[in-house]
Amino acid sequence: MPEPLFRRLALLGVGLIGSSVARIARARGDIAAEIVVNARTQKTLDRVVELGFADRVEIDPGRAVEGADCVMLCAPVGAYAGLAEAIAPHLTPGAIVTDVGSTKQSVIRDVGPLIPAGMHFVPGHPLAGTEYSGPDAGFITLFEGRWTLLTPPPGTDKAAVERIAELWHRCGSMTEVMEPSHHDRVLAIVSHLPHLLAFTICGTADDLADESRQQVLKFAASGFRDFTRIAASDPVMWRDVFLNNREALLEMLARFTEDAQAMARAVRWGDASYIEERISRGRVIRRSLIELKQA
Ligand code: NAP
Repeated sequence: MPEPLFRRLALLGVGLIGSSVARIARARGDIAAEIVVNARTQKTLDRVVELGFADRVEIDPGRAVEGADCVMLCAPVGAYAGLAEAIAPHLTPGAIVTDVGSTKQSVIRDVGPLIPAGMHFVPGHPLAGTEYSGPDAGFITLFEGRWTLLTPPPGTDKAAVERIAELWHRCGSMTEVMEPSHHDRVLAIVSHLPHLLAFTICGTADDLADESRQQVLKFAASGFRDFTRIAASDPVMWRDVFLNNREALLEMLARFTEDAQAMARAVRWGDASYIEERISRGRVIRRSLIELKQA
């Protein structure tokens, strides 16, 4: 077995993503010699002990990162500034601080300035997930065949970026380096807007008069069912994503609203060819995703 990449990996947050990384590191043995886990509540840490994928749990984030050569923030992005402040005085010289947050400009804004000189900061985002959360939700194949985007600020140590890329390769993921603002715009359209639409449509259905709402649930067709799966995602995590990718999300929502209005107009005026052409574009996109093995 190759040498472990890190002596000690500290995970701050151990939900779907953090517990998947921990499970993989535990199962492979070549990512970290020791895994330390921190969460906000003792209840979660007690569960981590039961699940057995950490060597040590620590309720205090400062203590969790002491002696760690890799620190991975895996909490909702709104908690990052507080966490970074708490850990900064306890980081080991040369440590790499990385993260898995769904927004990247906000993470660089909130965490970057708090990383002391002599440490490295390599923001990242694995494009993998499910609607489940918490330490029980993780699984070792979550990142297989998925992309992880790395958004190192200018001047970041190349060797640190390569080590974090290697960590993700060992998790089964492919990696690409991307400019943070580009990341946020791309993710706004492929992930954040679809979630916003799913939460909204479920709310709209729930607002219907009682009798209609019962019928919606009873006869839920696959379209609505698919939306409810996405809408079951963690409220705090998604609240933080929306608030921390505000501009890109509002831009994509404005473009979407314009296109939806164009579709509404075509429906009103019976413009069959416009409607058919827009639907056909959806099929083409679906086919491309299948070909890229990202469906
Ligand atoms: P999750 O399952 O909801 O778990 C969140 C974890 O963070 C829990 O262990 C929670 O601890 C901990 N936490 C919350 N606030 C904290 C704080 N102030 N200090 C320390 N720990 C705190 O979340 P997740 O789905 O794994 O998401 C984690 C991160 O990954 C987020 O930044 C998200 O944007 C990103 N991400 C998510 C997905 C996805 O599909 N879910 C995909 C890619 C990236 P307690 O249990 O004790 O509250």
